[in-house]
Amino acid sequence: MEQIRPFPPTDFIDQAEQEETIRLIPAPDLKQWAVKNYLTSDGQLYNPDHDHIAEILDNDETFLAFAWASSAAVSKKRMVLGQCEKVMFNVGGWKKARQEQQMRDWFGYIPVYLITIDASFCERANDREFCALIEHELYHIAVERDEDGDPICSNMTGLPKHYLGGHDVEEFVGVVKRWGANKDIKRLVEVANNPPFVSDLDISKCCGNCVIN
Ligand SMILES: [Zn+2]
Repeated sequence: MEQIRPFPPTDFIDQAEQEETIRLIPAPDLKQWAVKNYLTSDGQLYNPDHDHIAEILDNDETFLAFAWASSAAVSKKRMVLGQCEKVMFNVGGWKKARQEQQMRDWFGYIPVYLITIDASFCERANDREFCALIEHELYHIAVERDEDGDPICSNMTGLPKHYLGGHDVEEFVGVVKRWGANKDIKRLVEVANNPPFVSDLDISKCCGNCVIN
């Protein structure tokens, strides 16, 4: 059964280029695809690390939403291709009402987490790059864990408690070069030296556009 990975609408990037701006649109198909492939136990890219997200989504669909951005954002002089944010409106009154209205108009609800993906990157990325980016953003939705590593659930809802998690490894190449690897980097090197869990074959089965190209 062939399954095509989601692509942004074709006129969307063109329109933004004509307007010389960045446009954003909701991407419900991207969410559907991510849930089906990463968060469902028989999905082609299923990863039990994200079970805590799936558990919430089973109870509350409004937990997560996806959007396309027409081009990369630039932050701290780096290109941002994907972003996961905890949706927060820090202001009151009409500003807050306006921002909430936009979320409702887009998704039909106000999501707890919003993942935005650069559509122009998606157009030129191969399946492996695209799948890795989606997974990267999903990993930012982190769950609080106890000393044994088990997810901590809220007393109120009985569901896992989430927070916006940072990266496992954050270091300059130059620091590692001069001072050596810390334990997080060593762990990364160890993992990088093993073959990846998800093979190219799995991804092509999942994305289908390998078959087309
Ligand atoms: Zn990140």
